Amino acid sequence: MALIVHKYGGTSMGSTERIRNVAKRVAKWARAGHQMVVVPSAMSGETNRLLGLAKELAPAKTNTAYDRELDMLASTGEQASSALLAIALQSEGMASVSYAGWQVPIKTNSAFTKARIESIDDVRVRKDLAAGRVVIVTGFQGVDPDGNITTLGRGGSDTSAVAVAAAMKADECLIYTDVDGVYTTDPRVVPEARRLTTVSFEEMLEMASLGSKVLQIRSVEFAGKYKVPMRVLSSFTPWDIDINEEAKSGTLITFEEDEKMEQAVVSGIAFNRDEAKISVVGVPDKPGIAFQILGAVADANIEVDMIIQNISKEGKTDFSFTVHRNDFARTMDLLKEKVVPALGATEVTGDAKICKVSIVGIGMRSHVGIASKMFRSLSEEGINIQMISTSEIKTSVVIDEKYMELAVRALHKAFDLDQA
Ligand code: ASP
Ligand code: MG
Repeated sequence: MALIVHKYGGTSMGSTERIRNVAKRVAKWARAGHQMVVVPSAMSGETNRLLGLAKELAPAKTNTAYDRELDMLASTGEQASSALLAIALQSEGMASVSYAGWQVPIKTNSAFTKARIESIDDVRVRKDLAAGRVVIVTGFQGVDPDGNITTLGRGGSDTSAVAVAAAMKADECLIYTDVDGVYTTDPRVVPEARRLTTVSFEEMLEMASLGSKVLQIRSVEFAGKYKVPMRVLSSFTPWDIDINEEAKSGTLITFEEDEKMEQAVVSGIAFNRDEAKISVVGVPDKPGIAFQILGAVADANIEVDMIIQNISKEGKTDFSFTVHRNDFARTMDLLKEKVVPALGATEVTGDAKICKVSIVGIGMRSHVGIASKMFRSLSEEGINIQMISTSEIKTSVVIDEKYMELAVRALHKAFDLDQA
């Protein structure tokens, strides 16, 4: 008998029929002798619908009082789906109880709409488990020190599930979703993309932060910190498939590096169109430049990703970096108004039509020439690289957005990711 946490995403909870399917699947696991905690998302579209209503009433408010109400509002989506799942389980003859975040409680800080979990009390849940009940815990939400309902940021139910699994020392956290695992890249872009049977936690962390949308990045950080065994699998298999087969399906996120070292050097290709590039041109090349430019950006609470400084010519240099596209206009304004005049730079130019494409693999640690293979493959396609950044286990390039799919396909092929 094991203690197992299941998480079901919005699509898996998308209708009463699907909720009934989830209930049957969970009941199967419970009847196999496992203690079950289930963390559902809101029914698909519900969070957007609720937030849309708020926007109709007050389009662009961003203050604490408003954000508090957004959380009050958005959290109802998970409260509804959790209660419905408990009802469906009961109708399957399975004792079940659902709890909102504050009832567990899942304690968070007070950062409304992006709260962080601080602690989870497992006493109440354990009592129910001991009494033979399936416990449903709302995803995406918690309660702050003043008793306000908080939410964890979009996609936050993944994090709820992993945090509950960590707090309960669960044997495994299974993330049921509308894809059947983690792929070498997005199959919508590369039809030959393959499901990985295992991926290391570090690779998953990179992939999540580089644009793979399978898991909320914070859930992966949590899994790493507490070593929660985590698996991503499909909720669209028939609910009554053999439980042993199901338990081995999908993608397991492992902490066993050695096993992985034997495998492919590159495990996956990630990409995103979330960033924009900004260049400050004709900056006097002297100490303090990076600080003056990026310090101003940081003071405005804007996050910077890639950074490049060119070699200088006649005492002047160009300085480029990327920010999130949502921050693009604001950053441009800030630089034009404050930084360029103060520095005596020539101008600021910007380009939002870029994308970032990355290769990820822990095998890069022990193999040389991986990045150059990437560059060669892009050059063979005639794709110009605008920026490069590397870490121990990834290489990212910024290229023109219109070449994104071409680049991803070429790299997928170059690194033999279509071959098992
Ligand atoms: N319902 C929330 C959202 O749509 C949380 C989640 O689904 O993980 O972002
Ligand atoms: Mg999700």
